[in-house]
Amino acid sequence: MSIKGLLHDTAERAGAYLDALPGRRVSFAPEAIAKLEELIEPLPAEGAKPDEIIARLDRLGSPASVAMAGPRYFGFVIGGSLPASLAANWLANAWDQNTGLYEVTPATATLETQALTWLLDLLRLPGDCAGSFVTGATVANFTALAAARHRVLADAGWDVEADGLFGAPPVRVLIGAEAHPSVYKSLGMLGLGRNRVVRVPSDGQGRMRVDELSVAGSGPTIVIAQVGNVNTGACDAIGDICAVAKPQGAWVHVDGAFGLWASASPQYRHLLAGVEHADSWATDAHKWLNVPYDSGIAFVRDRDALKAAMAITAEYLPTHSARRNPSDYTPELSRRARGVEIWAALCELGRTGVAELVERCCAHAQHFATRLRAAGHEVLNDVVLNQVLVSFGTDQETRRVIKAIQDDGTCWCGVTVWQGNTAMRISVSNWSTTTADVERSLAAILRIAAS
Ligand SMILES: *Cc1c(COP(=O)(O)O)cnc(C)c1O
Repeated sequence: MSIKGLLHDTAERAGAYLDALPGRRVSFAPEAIAKLEELIEPLPAEGAKPDEIIARLDRLGSPASVAMAGPRYFGFVIGGSLPASLAANWLANAWDQNTGLYEVTPATATLETQALTWLLDLLRLPGDCAGSFVTGATVANFTALAAARHRVLADAGWDVEADGLFGAPPVRVLIGAEAHPSVYKSLGMLGLGRNRVVRVPSDGQGRMRVDELSVAGSGPTIVIAQVGNVNTGACDAIGDICAVAKPQGAWVHVDGAFGLWASASPQYRHLLAGVEHADSWATDAHKWLNVPYDSGIAFVRDRDALKAAMAITAEYLPTHSARRNPSDYTPELSRRARGVEIWAALCELGRTGVAELVERCCAHAQHFATRLRAAGHEVLNDVVLNQVLVSFGTDQETRRVIKAIQDDGTCWCGVTVWQGNTAMRISVSNWSTTTADVERSLAAILRIAAS
């Protein structure tokens, strides 16, 4: 089979998969998981035909997948793939460009630069920020915090990239008590320590209590705020945090893995008032922007700090371009052109479309909350964005309902423990979720809760 024939066949299979997605059960079928055993085999001595490999992959993999890309997956914070972004991902994979350096791959480097310019505009961040396209918010947090580490230590007369952290002036890190665990992981990877932090107490919604934030007495200081708590969706009062921390010379970083997208909506951006005063921001494109995995973005106001942390030079690398070299800003050197899918998603939606996507998901979340409350169930959070936490009574009963809804397959919702209470998490993040999907999911949840 020609490569074109193979890709046609693959497109047929992928199209059939996606067409069936809204109608199929959301969780995987146990029979399909059992069939995965067929994959456990010795490394083949001889190669096989590509079309046969793809046919087998489709036969075994597709039914065993979870309908995460579909409209009734409400677990974690999971977006689907907008049609143009999925198709752009395929085409860019056919190009197979190693998008580290402008002079080597000008097409994809230009697309990334353009995507970055649009993102800064859409998210209302300073237009001259540097940015890096990475794998997700975990690495975006890592990347931005590496820039922060550089700057606060450079200001104290220490070159951390050259001399490491042994003997360096101590860096104070202040972080909200309900920060996402991946931020702690980033701190660990940066040598700043998961435990060597000052935890600032948070309120009942998980927002940092600004009255408890004390930055004075300085030395090198990094404050880590959050917009969009992974459970409640609550956003720190970021403008107030900047007003406290910035005059003391602290670096303010914002983890906005999904919440940062609220800036694109006139209806919701008030939650993030003052976010543009921070120094760095991390977000995910694979969550609310609905591009394929894996895709996150770091934005950093201090371009020199980010470059100092990330750029490398070597005789064989043409790094002295007047244009933006993607790898000057990322932990990776060789990399795929993640920004291309983001560019395509922004083309497909436009400014208005991103705002509508955010507002539609939030309206669906409100609808879930209203109907669940009306049925007598307790919604544990203020539903300010796309996240709903619901209790069905005792912890045990809540866990029973969650397990039953996952087994039922109409929709998928996960479990969390929010400030001591077990809750079902409903996160509405998919571009294709309709009111009918919400109604159908509610009917299943309410039926199971009443049974
Ligand atoms: C999802 C999430 C992360 C981690 O993002 P990944 O894309 O999984 O690396 C970090 N912070 C918050 C608030 C999140 O919601």
